[in-house]
Amino acid sequence: MKAIRVEKFGEPEVLKLQEVADPVAGPGQVVVRVRAVGVNPVETYIRSGNYAMLPALPFTPGVDGAGEVDSVGAGAPFAKGERVFFGGTLSGAYAEKVLCEASQLHRLPQPLSFAQGAALGIPYATAWCAMFQRAHLSAGEKVLVHGATGGVGIAAVQLARAAGCTVVGTAGSEEGRKVVLAQGAHHAVDHGAADHLEAAMDLAGGPFDLVVEMLANVNLGKDLTALARFGRVVVIGSRGPVEVNPRDLMARDASIIGMILWNASDKEKAALWAGIGAGLEAGTLRPVVYKELPLAEAARAHREILGTKAAGKMVLVP
Ligand code: NAP
Repeated sequence: MKAIRVEKFGEPEVLKLQEVADPVAGPGQVVVRVRAVGVNPVETYIRSGNYAMLPALPFTPGVDGAGEVDSVGAGAPFAKGERVFFGGTLSGAYAEKVLCEASQLHRLPQPLSFAQGAALGIPYATAWCAMFQRAHLSAGEKVLVHGATGGVGIAAVQLARAAGCTVVGTAGSEEGRKVVLAQGAHHAVDHGAADHLEAAMDLAGGPFDLVVEMLANVNLGKDLTALARFGRVVVIGSRGPVEVNPRDLMARDASIIGMILWNASDKEKAALWAGIGAGLEAGTLRPVVYKELPLAEAARAHREILGTKAAGKMVLVP
């Protein structure tokens, strides 16, 4: 089979399509024929060698994908041909086939496409964990999704709307704002505009109970001034340091919460996938895919995910 391999950390060109041995399912494991792979920003940090946890070289990148069960090891509760998605593998997702523990697989409900299935793993799990498990979001609260057009942002908008919150999403393009509104945000504002937080508060009818932050190094200091009393900012993404004024927190009894999905416990993961599964069944959660590229163009995907405006999820097709 073919897979993307990284033999040294570096620029996107280190992502090379190569012939490798097919994986074989051991006890409790499943091999999946991959039909779509989700591209996440973290894979660009790992590829460049600039991340806290790095795999041993050489490796196949990637965490998320969807496809059909190809073969099943003893005791794994899946059948050949079943439609599944995964948020984690044993062998790396940028490949024609992946090896997974059965616990990494979830059944992909109709009518979701494989590309939509590949958009679920990291984005929906992160948005759920951040908002409900770390920041304790409740129905009736006002939520600002700061960076609502990407994989995690769209998931956050859909989840917060389905939970009964007032939702404002931010986007850097007109196309992005249309997508954010179509996914359930009550209002959308341009995070490129200097006064966008004031505009967001006006539209929401007051300051926010929760800010879901995708680019804290740019926004965190000002986010604190847009919080209601007992408000929270949950930091999902940051690409550098930032200055904050603690008095903005003190005046509101407010909190800044950091989170990283890798820290979620098995119990939390079971809970969040149960909740996401219910939303997929009910139709309140529907990933938005805006670009599909061939697996061989993984390097282009890595350049574009950091360099262009988002309007949903980018996937690779093996
Ligand atoms: P993505 O699909 O590449 O989307 C990036 C998002 O950031 C877009 O919505 C983009 O909006 C937005 N953005 C750009 N400039 C912004 C600004 N000035 N203010 C606010 N938002 C801005 O990435 P993703 O998968 O959604 O992930 C988002 C971030 O969270 C990334 O940094 C990623 O590494 C991180 N992340 C962390 C975890 C975790 O466990 N903590 C898990 C997943 C992701 P426009 O393109 O419309 O400008």
